[in-house]
Amino acid sequence: MSHAAIVTKIPERFDGALKSGDLLFFPSTVAKHVDSDVEYEIRLCPALQHKPALPTPHFDAGASDTGIAVQGANRKLKTFDPFAPPYNPNLYVADLKDQETEENYVVLLNKFSVVPQHFLLVTKDFRSQASPLMPSELVQTYLFLLAARKLGKQFFAFYNCGDNSGASQPHKHIQFLPLDDARGPPIEKLARDAQLEFADRPFSLNKLSYANHCYRFPYQMDTYPPERLEHILADAFLRLLDLSISTIRHDPDYPQGSPSYNVIITLEHIHVIPRRQENHTLQETGDKLSINALGFAGMLLVKSEEELEAVKKESVSQILQAVGLRSVHDIQVEGTAHETPLAGHL
Ligand code: AMP
Repeated sequence: MSHAAIVTKIPERFDGALKSGDLLFFPSTVAKHVDSDVEYEIRLCPALQHKPALPTPHFDAGASDTGIAVQGANRKLKTFDPFAPPYNPNLYVADLKDQETEENYVVLLNKFSVVPQHFLLVTKDFRSQASPLMPSELVQTYLFLLAARKLGKQFFAFYNCGDNSGASQPHKHIQFLPLDDARGPPIEKLARDAQLEFADRPFSLNKLSYANHCYRFPYQMDTYPPERLEHILADAFLRLLDLSISTIRHDPDYPQGSPSYNVIITLEHIHVIPRRQENHTLQETGDKLSINALGFAGMLLVKSEEELEAVKKESVSQILQAVGLRSVHDIQVEGTAHETPLAGHL
């Protein structure tokens, strides 16, 4: 089935899964909030207070035995992998095969939906959520965004990689969220406004309080054939990943284990944001706020009015800074004269 056919199917599959009770929808309201000259969106979703919070699993990059949790000294307990077959027929949308690599994927609806039509691209075989995005995954992601736009729909994609990224499932999944605003999520508006001296170099949005690495795709990349897309997407992602690892290396207290980061992909840009911790404990309420790629896209999620006020009081930029890393952009610019990551001048 083509990407366009899959995107076309999403609304009716969403309605069906909602009706059958296999998909739980949590209504919410969104408020704009300006902080340090950036317009964020804070989504208030009181119904999430009743959703049980599961502990974040550990994502071992090498693990092929997904869902195995060690209990006690030697006992192993098989835990449920919602992204392994058999799929819930009402959450299942389609199978997808990369024609070049023959890698197989499945498209599923998000079972716990705060935004209608939120869907997931999941690897058919188990791959770890701590592993980097592969060229095939980047191409498939881009083809979905492209197909959606041709159908007059606006989506963006995100990937939460690693223990401290805000991911909750260890089986590799890339997520797609529809948008009302054609300009993209808040971080994308900043990226679009950035004036770049050299079009094909990574840059950083200096207005933001945390390390962020961004790359602008070539003009009219949406007309390129898949092989050409693959080259550009894979190269851009690797350059941003290199910069993120370099940022992480400058943090003396970075937690042990494989690096964590968030990836945000639109038709125009790819953003990689290195992460040092998943949660921020709000000073006012003591609540733990789990932040994933959506927070770094500029879309925060809170469960109560008190949390909302606490977030505003503490400031979104400080919260993101606390769970992200300090920018070492200036050092990186000095150290890589041949491939200077640029500042995004705003
Ligand atoms: P993340 O928390 O970023 O790892 O994303 C995992 C997503 O999968 C979350 O948005 C969950 O709501 C969603 N999810 C959890 N269990 C299921 C399931 N059984 N079927 C489909 N989606 C699920």
